[in-house]
Amino acid sequence: MSREALLNSALALQTLGLNQGTSGNTSIRQGDGFVITPSGMPINEMNANSMVEMNMHGEAISAGKPSSEWRFHRDIYQARPEVGAVIHTHAMFATTLACLRKDIPPFHYMIAIAGGDNIRCADYALFGTQALSDHAIEALKDRRACLLANHGMIAVGKSLQQALDIAIEVETLCEQYWRALQVGEPNILSTQEMNEVREQFKGYGNWNK
Ligand code: 13P
Ligand code: ZN
Repeated sequence: MSREALLNSALALQTLGLNQGTSGNTSIRQGDGFVITPSGMPINEMNANSMVEMNMHGEAISAGKPSSEWRFHRDIYQARPEVGAVIHTHAMFATTLACLRKDIPPFHYMIAIAGGDNIRCADYALFGTQALSDHAIEALKDRRACLLANHGMIAVGKSLQQALDIAIEVETLCEQYWRALQVGEPNILSTQEMNEVREQFKGYGNWNK
């Protein structure tokens, strides 16, 4: 069940153009551990049996080589009990802005879906390292998404669908911000305006479910 859902999420990310080839990885919480996509395997070659089950010690408990980023997946599940799924992508616009190593300010009210008044960019660290995981956990504090410097983005959700929805929205916001920057300096919403957005969101859509 989790394996099929995970495979479908990897395929969806490819279809949406948010990941390709061996870039990115996804996981879903399962029991005391989680299931994660395999390392270095092109999405087109994955099947349900390629998914790897892990415990919270970071040990694979089924066949296959888990994603090299299992550390931040594991650390997010441990630090954030409400999180049920983690998505990591190298989506074009999120990655472009991540290369600038800048937080995304509230230039658009939808920034609120990431959990706060900005989307932070985590400090750079080599992929697959504990240092990258530590930086990601910090950037994700009170947030459901962050950029990873010179790398990509992470989106988390209660469910795989919510994590996917957030990843899609973050990529859209990054494209909008990038486009606005091409023609001028975007106007930034105030703290008060973002507080109002948060209130309004309480009765809107599935973002808070
Ligand atoms: P994996 O193939 O090991 O999941 O790595 C892809 C990636 O995006 C590393 O950051
Ligand atoms: Zn990556």
